[in-house]
Amino acid sequence: MTPTSAQLHALLRRHFGYDTFRPQQEEIIGHVLAGGDALVLMPTGGGKSICYQLPAMALEGTTVVVSPLISLMRDQVEGLRAAGIAAAALNSAASEADNIATRRDVMAGRVKLLYVSPERLLLELPFLRHSARVSLFAIDEAHCISAWGHDFRPEYTQLGILREEFPEVPTMALTATADKVTRHDILRQLALREPRVFVSSFDRPNLSLCVQRLGQKRDKMREILALIARHGSDSGIVYTLSRKTAEAVADELRSHRIAAAVYHAGLTAEERDRAQDDFVNDRVQVVCATVAFGMGINKSNVRFVVHYNLPKSIESFYQEIGRAGRDGLAAETLLFYSAADLIQLERFARDSGQSDINAERLARMREYAEATVCRRRILLNYFGEPAQSDCCNCDVCSAPPERFDGTVLVQKALSAIARADERIGMATCIDILRGMYTADVKSRRYDQLRTFGVGRDVSKRDWDDYMLQMLHLGYVEIAYDDANRLRLTAAGRDVLFGRATATLSRPRPIEPKPTKAAKAKEARAAYGRMASPFAPQAGAVAESALMERLRALRKQLADEQGFPAYVIFSDRTLLAMAEAKPRTLAQMALLPGVGDYKLRKYGERFLRAVAQDD
Ligand code: ADP
Ligand code: ZN
Repeated sequence: MTPTSAQLHALLRRHFGYDTFRPQQEEIIGHVLAGGDALVLMPTGGGKSICYQLPAMALEGTTVVVSPLISLMRDQVEGLRAAGIAAAALNSAASEADNIATRRDVMAGRVKLLYVSPERLLLELPFLRHSARVSLFAIDEAHCISAWGHDFRPEYTQLGILREEFPEVPTMALTATADKVTRHDILRQLALREPRVFVSSFDRPNLSLCVQRLGQKRDKMREILALIARHGSDSGIVYTLSRKTAEAVADELRSHRIAAAVYHAGLTAEERDRAQDDFVNDRVQVVCATVAFGMGINKSNVRFVVHYNLPKSIESFYQEIGRAGRDGLAAETLLFYSAADLIQLERFARDSGQSDINAERLARMREYAEATVCRRRILLNYFGEPAQSDCCNCDVCSAPPERFDGTVLVQKALSAIARADERIGMATCIDILRGMYTADVKSRRYDQLRTFGVGRDVSKRDWDDYMLQMLHLGYVEIAYDDANRLRLTAAGRDVLFGRATATLSRPRPIEPKPTKAAKAKEARAAYGRMASPFAPQAGAVAESALMERLRALRKQLADEQGFPAYVIFSDRTLLAMAEAKPRTLAQMALLPGVGDYKLRKYGERFLRAVAQDD
């Protein structure tokens, strides 16, 4: 018999401390509990885990969760145990003695959720069939099955066997990658039975979106430091295209006394584990990483994600920014975009062996970076959910670009390119315009051109920006197969010869740096404002002495038990506690994120911390 809605809500409250399901969660859970197969597409941070964790609690037996990474399993198991739920993992990182103990617990029906890697699962099939009572299979990060995707894991392709070996056990696949090819691959390879496909909204309104057209290291670092200053001691991730850049950015941050770690595929497994562990446990504030980082990080209080370079696709971009703000509180994203990145990524796409698909993906990413309309609308449109209104939480919405007639500027640049016989790249073009006697300019006698120095009054940074706009408006194109030289297009010639005008948008001025304290204060206020259900005063609450005390207590409990702090209570729960100031356990139980087990385990100590306020 399938439970009623009231029973599902009671389970949600008891085990997870939440009062309402997020969109689709209840339908998904209901469908699975009725024995159906399902494919669940939800954005990162959307709340996929509860879709199988809650059924696991409602069903007799053990739910088996297939997960691609050991770190991911560890994170999930820790989180569940901290909520008093019997969870375990079978994997190669555990000792054989531990694995035997885990198997024994499974046999005795003591494990509600068992996490396994796909290769391990295949080995454990006989055990599971004969000695366990499997209630449900959940295939997490199911896009790993698709050879077209970005995280292909060959072992996933063998999971179709589950349908044959356990015909009576419902199976669900979950992923944050929504594209059609991947979706189709998952359904086909897992051989799901009359699956229902649940597609949740990909909107994550708590993530702010911002793009800056900056290419110079100095400019980017300045922006990153300002961003970190706004966030006080909050955690964040900086994604870079190359390992070398990840190292360089981390060094730079450390030189500003920011605790930063590096994470990329060139490090040993131990080094990577340590970086991740330090981040999760708040021993480092920032991780500088290539795309290798982040899958399986459940840390709910990542407050910012920076893309130091343009990502290869909206899919990976969205997955990466999705790692911020999983607790639903405001989080900030920032993407840097420059012609140099574009040139490099075009080359990767061409050399990739799937050049059409990759060039198309990059083109869509560019559309986002170059947007002059609400950026969230572009993202949602990409995920097939056209939005009806602007988001008011992106840089375009909050400061629409200021337009001006840029015909003369464009003509100057185009004329320089034409006079140099279309044999120059972007950097030389700007040197000519700005009248710089560089080695290249002198040796090729570009200082003799009539256009030499005609754009002296415009800074290099602004020229970089205008050139990028000219590229995106289609006045010039880059000959990727010819040393990235610039070529005039037909539209460009129209402007050059006065047959058309060109509208440009003004580069954003570099703001004078507010003091660190002022910025941090402003950011904390904004953070509370966006975040808390108790809107107006929350900014003050986020900074209150009480909040500091609650954080300290959380950290102390976390250290005592060897858990990451956010596993004890999320930032959202602490904010609600600081606001509501509960005096009794019954009042405490009403807060979001306080389930029965956590109430029993931590309730008294937090009540005492709250009471100290009087
Ligand atoms: P993902 O889809 O990336 O796996 P998670 O399952 O980790 O996302 O969920 C992200 C965050 O949202 C977690 O902190 C989780 O506790 C929280 N969450 C999930 N469901 C709800 C809910 N119904 N109400 C409030 N918070 C929720
Ligand atoms: Zn917007």
